[in-house]
Amino acid sequence: MKRREIFAGNWKMYKTRETAKSLVKSLLQGAALTENREVVVFPPSPYAAEIASLCGGSVISVGMQNMYFQKEGAFTGEVAPAMVRDCGCKYILIGHSERRHVFGETDAEVNKKVKAAFEHSLVPMICVGELLEEREKAKTETVLEAQVKEAFNGIDAGRAGTAVVAYEPVWAIGTGKVATPEIAEEAHRYIRSVLEVLYGKPAADDIPILYGGSVKADNIAGLYAMENIDGVLVGGASLEADSFLKIINTR
Ligand code: PEP
Repeated sequence: MKRREIFAGNWKMYKTRETAKSLVKSLLQGAALTENREVVVFPPSPYAAEIASLCGGSVISVGMQNMYFQKEGAFTGEVAPAMVRDCGCKYILIGHSERRHVFGETDAEVNKKVKAAFEHSLVPMICVGELLEEREKAKTETVLEAQVKEAFNGIDAGRAGTAVVAYEPVWAIGTGKVATPEIAEEAHRYIRSVLEVLYGKPAADDIPILYGGSVKADNIAGLYAMENIDGVLVGGASLEADSFLKIINTR
């Protein structure tokens, strides 16, 4: 059996309150239960509490797409870690490529958010991934190593073993250009080797590494077959129940 599997959907800044609720209701009806697979949805923050209450006691967990690392204070527009918990969220997405590249989030901020997540009993889903120009200059491993090491800086093995990493090559997000299973597997194996240097083999083996970047119902099978791909983080194809159900019910 593969290690803990996670099939996650990032709804980004899409949906209304009503369409978000109806999407999650369809997912609750159609998601087939498996022993070691968890489904996670990341709705827009204003809908998180309502979506989490609809998902209570089900196979679907809820996360928020972003938060600030401070406990509280004069930070207009930000969401505190305790508020994420209070909304019924288990997961927090950290360092998504849109946060890094549209909003200028740095590796140091990612690390502060990872620490804040653990301090508030949230599971961080930490996104890493290289730009196209970095891949073309053969810098993929250097970039991934730096992002992983910085994200986990100061985190002990016990906590690290409960985190989730998502490999999302920036050139594949929202572009329709999915990484081949071989390219993704190579990156996942490399990320796991970096985690192994940091934490040893047992902890590194426990950490699910998800692939994200133009995953669709018709390309997931090849990715899922790879040894180090423990699930997926899906954007566009998670916005409609039919396509996301086909993905989360992949066997
Ligand atoms: C994402 O937003 O994390 C993502 C992978 O998007 P898409 O599936 O649309 O490429």
